[in-house]
Amino acid sequence: MENEKRIALVTGASRGIGKSIALKLAKMGFKVIINFSSSENEAKKVLEEIENFGGQGRLACFDVTDRKACKEEFSKITETEKRLDVLIHNAGIRKDGLAVRMKDEDWDRVIDVNLTAFFNLAKPSVKLMLKNKWGRIVGISSTSGQAGVPGQINYSASKAGLIGALKSLSKEIGVRNITVNAVSPGFIETEMTEALDREKIIETIPMQRFGTVAEVASVAGFLCSEEASYVTGQVIGVNGGIY
Ligand code: NDP
Repeated sequence: MENEKRIALVTGASRGIGKSIALKLAKMGFKVIINFSSSENEAKKVLEEIENFGGQGRLACFDVTDRKACKEEFSKITETEKRLDVLIHNAGIRKDGLAVRMKDEDWDRVIDVNLTAFFNLAKPSVKLMLKNKWGRIVGISSTSGQAGVPGQINYSASKAGLIGALKSLSKEIGVRNITVNAVSPGFIETEMTEALDREKIIETIPMQRFGTVAEVASVAGFLCSEEASYVTGQVIGVNGGIY
């Protein structure tokens, strides 16, 4: 890494997969901007953990669907850090229901957080990355976006859409030394999967267990490293063989 510290923005970094990625990137030497929308205490603990091992970070409370707030955050990054090297779009929600009963607002919100927010953040991120001719963009998709899952037409559409956006972007900016990839987790132990019928699901997973957040973070970390310099436009599954 060059002398100047590289900067990473991780959305939804207050818990779960995003938290684990934030810790991983901080250990790799990045200063991490820890985004969250409401879980302030949890986000503060992530920052504390990073500082406890000598890493650097700061909190960034904003809703990734709020375009004005995204613009304000990027003004802050431009003034404070003056660069951005890594964008991880991890913030995500699910609001499941069968298609015939799905509420309009549940479709809209899931698409907004999981997919449209990626556009809100990728556009200003690329502008900053182009200046340094180096960048890493990673979107956290899902097996659901690749295979489809009943009861998740909104979530599957958002995650498949994210893969499409990432692939197109990788072709626009590969020549500028900016790589763009998706990590596609299967079932990972987090708050999002807490209420699921674990026993029934585990029977369908070749590795017969849920994955851990660290197993997802290690792949995201690799994609942000120098070693991954020729990996772009890819979807890397972390799913215990389920897809
Ligand atoms: P969690 O529900 O544990 O965490 C979600 C994170 O996203 C929180 O930090 C939350 O912060 C943040 N967040 C949610 N909405 C917004 C918003 N509008 N603006 C900013 N931050 C927001 O989820 P997971 O860790 O399980 O999932 C992380 C990602 O991985 C998601 O994109 C998910 O779809 C994907 N994924 C997860 C799988 C799993 O099995 N867990 C499988 C496949 C994909 P706050 O509470 O402050 O809003």
